[in-house]
Formats: sequence, structure tokens, C-alpha cells
Amino acid sequence: MNDIELLHDAARQAIEYVAGTDARPAMPDEAALARLDAFDEPLPEAPTDPSDALRLLSEVGGPATMMSTGPNYFGFVNGATFPVALGAAFLVNAWDQNAALPVMSPTAAKLHDVARGWLLDVLSLPGHSDVGFVTGATVANASCMAAARDELLERAGWNAKSDGLFGAPPITVVIGQNTHSTVRKSLGLIGLGGDRVLKVPTDNQGRIDCTQLPTNLSGPVLVCAQAGEVNTGAFDPFDEIADWLTAATDNGWLHVDGAFGLWALADPSRTHLVEGLHRADSWATDGHKWLNVTYDCGIAIVARKGALRRTFASVAGYLPPEHGFEAMHHTPQSSQRARQVEVWAVLRTLGRSGVAQLVQRASDAAQLIAERLRNADFDVLNDVVINQVLLRYGSAAATETLLAEIQRDGRIWCGATQWHGETAMRVSVSSWKTTVDDATHAADVIAECARRLPPLD
Ligand SMILES: *Cc1c(COP(=O)(O)O)cnc(C)c1O
Repeated sequence: MNDIELLHDAARQAIEYVAGTDARPAMPDEAALARLDAFDEPLPEAPTDPSDALRLLSEVGGPATMMSTGPNYFGFVNGATFPVALGAAFLVNAWDQNAALPVMSPTAAKLHDVARGWLLDVLSLPGHSDVGFVTGATVANASCMAAARDELLERAGWNAKSDGLFGAPPITVVIGQNTHSTVRKSLGLIGLGGDRVLKVPTDNQGRIDCTQLPTNLSGPVLVCAQAGEVNTGAFDPFDEIADWLTAATDNGWLHVDGAFGLWALADPSRTHLVEGLHRADSWATDGHKWLNVTYDCGIAIVARKGALRRTFASVAGYLPPEHGFEAMHHTPQSSQRARQVEVWAVLRTLGRSGVAQLVQRASDAAQLIAERLRNADFDVLNDVVINQVLLRYGSAAATETLLAEIQRDGRIWCGATQWHGETAMRVSVSSWKTTVDDATHAADVIAECARRLPPLD
């Protein structure tokens, strides 16, 4: 096989995989998992035929994948992939551009500018915002909050980029009790400390309780609010938080983690959830969750002009002078993949109404699943406002038994979470493929698995 035949063959195998997704159960079977042992080979001493490597991936790797690109996977908040995103990914990989600087990839730079403009447009966020494409919401949160750290400290007379945080004026960091676990990781990474935070109590949906926001603060304040609580999908009261912050300090920054929930901004029927969300200074979201592009794609959006550049610019003698958008001077990465290309391709294909429908369809599916399961003796623990359904079947213990049965059954996949210290199950509708019929099917499979268990007392 020559190089071109090899690539045709790889593309054919990839496309066959995609063609098979709907017919496969959400969970690979035991035999497929056991065959993964075929990868336990010693490192070859000498070159091997490249088609052997690809064959192993296809025959051993592919069958053991979770079918998260199909319509029946509801685990975590894992998105699927639009065909146009996958197609764009084929091209991005073939181009293998370094998207760090326009001089390295004029195409990546152009598509960054267009994707930036369209994103801000479809999400109705301030049009002058800077946008950086990173690996996921964890790094997008860290990037936005690093920019916040440096700007807050600069205004307090400290240059954190040069001098670090030892001896710096302290920043008060305020988060909600239900902040996503990775936000603490992001805070740790940027030197603010995952546990050195004021945690504000939350209501029964995980929303910040504004009556409990701290008073008598002094010095710089960074607040991290949330659009889309990871279990309930709930939105913090942004207007109240923004008002409180303005009153509390003249050196504040409001950041919003909207890993999946930020996309609610694109749906005109959900404006009640997002009131005041545009008043933040920065927002983090994911492309690989609800927008259904391939991994790994996170998006950092910062409205404060120049803040990403202040934090991420790096200088070297061989770098050309500024010309167009320089991704390496606005993100933690230097060399980087052109992640914006898939985002551009999906937005180009869906258009404004298509993104709104993506949000509506998943949210309608979630609503339907909640309704059907409520009628099958399940407790729906959340107000289903977007794509997340939080459930319990009898007790926490019975819910654990049920989850094991659902995962053994394998036709659909959803997982456990902790809610108020006890096990619950979470159904996240994040795949563009999940239709109303698929949602009905999923609810019926879950109810059928429940009927196989001993009756609840
Ligand atoms: C998934 C998620 C994150 C982390 O995103 P990654 O893309 O996995 O880095 C952060 N916050 C929330 C609310 C999430 O749902």
C-alpha cells in the first residue's frame, strides 16, 4: 500500500465506523473490551507496516469505544460529533497547520476571526471580546481567570506575570457551593488555590443564593458564577451577582463557567435563564460538549480588551511583529491545533436558527425523559431547564443497583452522580443525534431495567 492508498483505507474505515454508530449499543460488549489486550505488545524493534497499526485500531480499538457519537449515550456531559465537524477535522488534520500565528497559517487566522465574530453574534456576547480556543472548559476557565488575576492585580499595583503571586495583594475568590469540580483545579493551576475560596451556599437547584454573598470585602474580588450546573443544568442569578459585585468593590471581575450551559444564549426561548449573563467580564465554554465538534475544543471569551494578551503574550527574537490575531499570544498554548475550523464549520452549517434548534431539541428530549420517568415511579430531582435530568429511583442504593443494570443492559448509557451527598443518576442529552424517539426509547429502557429489579418498598 502506498501513502495515498493507506489514507484512503483509513478514511474508509473511519467512515464505516460512523455508518455503524446507530446500530451499535451505547456500551461495548465484554468480548470487545477483552480484545483490547491485543494492544499489549512489546515495542517493535524495527519499523512495521503502517497499515497494520491502522488495522489494529479499526479491528480492536473501534469496537471497544463507547458509542458517545450515537443517539443513545447520555453519560457525563459528553457531546457527539456533527458529520461536518468530523469532515472539517479530516481536513484540519491533513493540513496540519500550526495555528499559533497568522504567518504559520493564514487559513487558521482567517477562520479564527470569522469564528470569533460568529460565536459572539450567536451567543449575543459583547462584539469586541477576545476569543481563545483551548483544550476544554477546564483550560478555558483557567485562561479567563488567569487574565482576571493579572488585571485585578495590575489595578492593585502588582505585576503578577513578572513577579508571581508571592507577596502579591490577596484576591478574594468567590464561588458557589455547586461550582464544577474542575474550577478548583483551574484555580489551583493559576495559583489562586482551589480551596482558598469563599463558597457561597446554593439553593435546591445548585444556584448561588444571593442573600449569602459575602459582605465587607476589600481589595480585588474574582467571582466565578455558573451557566449550567453540571447535574441540574441550573443558571446562577447573574444580574444579582453583577449588582452585588459592583457594589462590593471597584476592582472586581465576574467570570462565568458555561461549559455547556452558555449555549442557552443561542435559544431565544430561554432568555429568562440567561438574564444578566452578558454582564460578566469573561465566559468559558466547550465546543466538544453541546456544539458537537470533536475533542478537544474549549473556548475562552474575555470582554476586557487586551486582558488575554496581557497574560499570554510571549516574546522571542524570531517572532514577527504583530499582524492579525496571534493565537499563541492569547492562549496558554504556543503551537496549537486550528480548533476554530470545526467551530466555524458547524456554525456555517447550522446557522443561527440551527444552533437554537440544537439547544431546543436536546432540552425537549430531556423534558420528555423526565416526564416519562416521573410516570414510572422515578423522582426527578431537578427543574429540567435545559439538557440535564437528575433522577433517583427509590433510594440512593436502589439507584446504584439500577445504574448497574442499565450499564449491563448496554443499549443506552448514563451514569451516577452525587447530589446532596447521595447517589443519583444523571441523564445528559448532549448528542445532536438524539431525537424525541430516541429520548422515548431511552426512558423506556431505563424504566424496563427498573422493572427487572426487586420492587421498591
Ligand atoms: C465539563 C465541564 C467542565 C470541564 O470541561 P472540560 O471540557 O472537561 O475541560 C467545567 N465546568 C462544567 C460546568 C462542565 O460541565
